[in-house]
Amino acid sequence: MPKFSFYENSQKVLDQAFKQLNISEDVVNVLTAPERVIEFSIPVRMDNGKIQVFTAYRSQYNSARGPTKGGIRYHPSVTLDEVKALSFLMTFKCAVANLPLGGGKGGVIVDSKKLSKGEKERLSRGYVRGIFDFVGPTKDIPAPDMYTDSQTMAWMSDEYNTIARGQHPGFITGKPLSIGGSEGRDDSTAKGAYYIIMDMLREFKLDATKQKVAIQGFGNAGINLAKMLMKEGMLIVALSDSKGGVCDMKGIDVEHAIKTKQEKGRIAEVHVEPDKKYGKSCKHITNEQLLELEVDFLVPAALENQINESNAKKIKAKYIVELANGPVTYDADQILEKKGIQLIPDVLANAGGVTVSYFEWVQNRYGQYWTREEVYSKLKEIMNKEFKNLLKVAKKHKVSFRTAIYMIAIERVAEAVRAKITG
Ligand code: GLU
Repeated sequence: MPKFSFYENSQKVLDQAFKQLNISEDVVNVLTAPERVIEFSIPVRMDNGKIQVFTAYRSQYNSARGPTKGGIRYHPSVTLDEVKALSFLMTFKCAVANLPLGGGKGGVIVDSKKLSKGEKERLSRGYVRGIFDFVGPTKDIPAPDMYTDSQTMAWMSDEYNTIARGQHPGFITGKPLSIGGSEGRDDSTAKGAYYIIMDMLREFKLDATKQKVAIQGFGNAGINLAKMLMKEGMLIVALSDSKGGVCDMKGIDVEHAIKTKQEKGRIAEVHVEPDKKYGKSCKHITNEQLLELEVDFLVPAALENQINESNAKKIKAKYIVELANGPVTYDADQILEKKGIQLIPDVLANAGGVTVSYFEWVQNRYGQYWTREEVYSKLKEIMNKEFKNLLKVAKKHKVSFRTAIYMIAIERVAEAVRAKITG
């Protein structure tokens, strides 16, 4: 198989949307390359007394609409190509939610599961020391992503404040509440997708209790969305983590799955044996099998590139909601479209996270804090509005949801670029 470039893939999406829009060559040129990409090394004193050097990145794709914004990912498969592609996605995601922010992303090549807490802290503080000159509340604002969380943000925030000799809570979002975090940030990515799915049920006139849902990935976003959808009476029929998954077409009890995952470390242990209380048993499935199940909603909530040319033909879901970033490749997208599968793109489906990050940044700058209800109602308003906008543009131009969402986002970014580069 030829080496897949996530970054080249995202550029194809851009080209497709450019074709539909009347955008000057100058603006197109500005939007097809990241503004700044930084590669640096973080030396960390490990618990065994030796120094280990980790490769780290930060890509600031475009700042036309405001300071760049995006998470920092700790994962062994992080590459420069991936970080660039993710910063591209952040640029358009912030524009979709109409936030006054640009797009950025960071990453460290590390298997964080193998680090002790102390090693993780030293790595996180080292990241900030390596990048300090290029980040800050008015420059580039990091946040959590895969395998980084509110604790990671707390270390990074403290390191930034120590170097800057002051309190700058707006440097980073996704912080614990006690040091300037926002209510509702913890489950905001799932909440945003939940509002979209509720809109879909209304729009496509679907009965919640008849919808079968498969969710790939059991991280923060996947778990919280599963809980929210189950409460609405939707049937969660398949779940997975990186070690594999389970399937029960009669529905899985999500709370029970969470407990099993906590106790046994893997989702594949969820009542596979007949259970006294549930009286039913799940079947083991692989991550690949989960994607190909006959369900109504498929929610990829793990890594990118999961639905690609090799399996797109086998997808049987009616709707796909991209909770992960970039789970469907450009080529797969074309196949899914031909099959009539409706797909809500990542830049809208998972924009809840960065939207509440933006709320956190606003609250930090005001020094005033909102209740969870206020946060949710502001988030709901944005998600509902942009979903309606998506339907309108897709219908008007007779294009897929992916192309439509990029038309909306590019138009917004292009307007800001134009304002700056034309006389
Ligand atoms: N990492 C999240 C994302 O991919 C959140 C980014 C943020 O809050 O800045 O959207």
